[in-house]
Amino acid sequence: MMEIEQLSKLIQENGIVGAGGAGFPSYAKLNAKTETLILNCAECEPLLKLHRQLLEKYAAEIADTFYKIGRTVGAKEMVIGIKKSYKKTIEALHAVLDAYPNMRLGLLDEVYPAGDEVVLIYEVTKKVVKPGGLPIDCGVAVFNVETVYNVYRAVEKNIPVIDKLVSVVGEVEHPVTVRVPIGTSIEETVRLAGNNTHDDPVYFIGGPMMGQIGSGLQPVTKTTNAVLVLPQDHLIVRKKQRKASIDLKRAAASCCQCTMCTDLCPRNRLGHPIEPHLFMRAATCKDVQEPNIFINTMFCSSCGLCEMYSCMQGLSPRSLIADYKAGLRANGIKPPKAEPKPVGTERDYRKVPMARLMARLDLAKYNKKAPLADEAITVSKVKILLSQHIGAPAAAVVHAGEQVQKGQMIAQPAQGLSVGIHASISGTVSAVTDQYIVIEKEHEKQKGCAENE
Ligand code: SF4
Ligand code: SF4
Repeated sequence: MMEIEQLSKLIQENGIVGAGGAGFPSYAKLNAKTETLILNCAECEPLLKLHRQLLEKYAAEIADTFYKIGRTVGAKEMVIGIKKSYKKTIEALHAVLDAYPNMRLGLLDEVYPAGDEVVLIYEVTKKVVKPGGLPIDCGVAVFNVETVYNVYRAVEKNIPVIDKLVSVVGEVEHPVTVRVPIGTSIEETVRLAGNNTHDDPVYFIGGPMMGQIGSGLQPVTKTTNAVLVLPQDHLIVRKKQRKASIDLKRAAASCCQCTMCTDLCPRNRLGHPIEPHLFMRAATCKDVQEPNIFINTMFCSSCGLCEMYSCMQGLSPRSLIADYKAGLRANGIKPPKAEPKPVGTERDYRKVPMARLMARLDLAKYNKKAPLADEAITVSKVKILLSQHIGAPAAAVVHAGEQVQKGQMIAQPAQGLSVGIHASISGTVSAVTDQYIVIEKEHEKQKGCAENE
């Protein structure tokens, strides 16, 4: 059994971060105070398929690694949080679980946002993480499926994080879940799903609820879970393109204080003091008599339910709250410590079913199989960002013109919270800046020179 320090060093050097979300460096989650370790297979966002498929295929490897991490941190129990509807994955897990004492399944409803850490922790342990607190404050640590698979590859096969699974869904001929080298362009990734089925597509990076409109030229990072290809006039695209100044005017004109945004807010339902309807009233009336209404925006998880589902007026509490939150952070304000209220019995009736969410967002037609193609594809050029995680960007240790081998460390962890970055293909470094490193395969470079002569 490894010691925490040993595993922590290995995880940091192999560049492992949360494979999705904000990319929190995984070594920093290893803590001897962990009582319960949770494997997150809730696949929070609509349309995503990668975690259930990866866990089905590598149930033995992932369960074993998850167990070893649990033993290393001294966890009393290990829980695999998984939706009841992932029947094939559950079957695969049942075939291996007997070998691991203190490991159980935590079955989840098909609701949104089941994969939000705070929601997941409550669902499988009935513990509420305090507003502004961390899971470890209540003795819990959460890792997602691909993150644990990456730990397996690092520990057992000596492979650092050099590729990423990405679900490509939406307006494409053949939705698919592909493994691509980190730094592959979004355009090249989307091509693996066949032709676009729409003339003027928009690439939505991440899930439809929390993702962002991106460009075909931007690179896949360690946290890119999905590319959703949508038509320009799709509801979700139009919502993302709205301007905050207009949103505020629309809210001032038509927020009727119905409280639906607060009633269905997953964090409010767990007793956290975030009340979007009060924020909408205070922000639109510029009423600062109760400053906590603004400060409490820091307890919003940006899940998007209030503006994508709850508000019948089509208003945008999440986006307006996000602007305020960013302003508070920019001014160095940290979330205050707060105690949650008790969880009410009405919570169970205020969960949002995934099927209704998809129907409301006009996504049901895109909910198709996206089979897993697990062999990493070959690409000739990658642009690898030095900041793909929360914390300090990695520091480049290669220079332009240098030959690098796939898996070689090309940027080392910086001081503080940081992880290493590795070459995802073998080739020649053609550019190094303070933001990224470009690697090109040698024969592609030569071909380019010959064409230019
Ligand atoms: S749901 Fe919409 S209309 Fe109702 S209080 Fe919230 S923002 Fe206002
Ligand atoms: S985005 Fe809206 S629903 Fe989600 S946590 Fe924030 S206020 Fe609540």
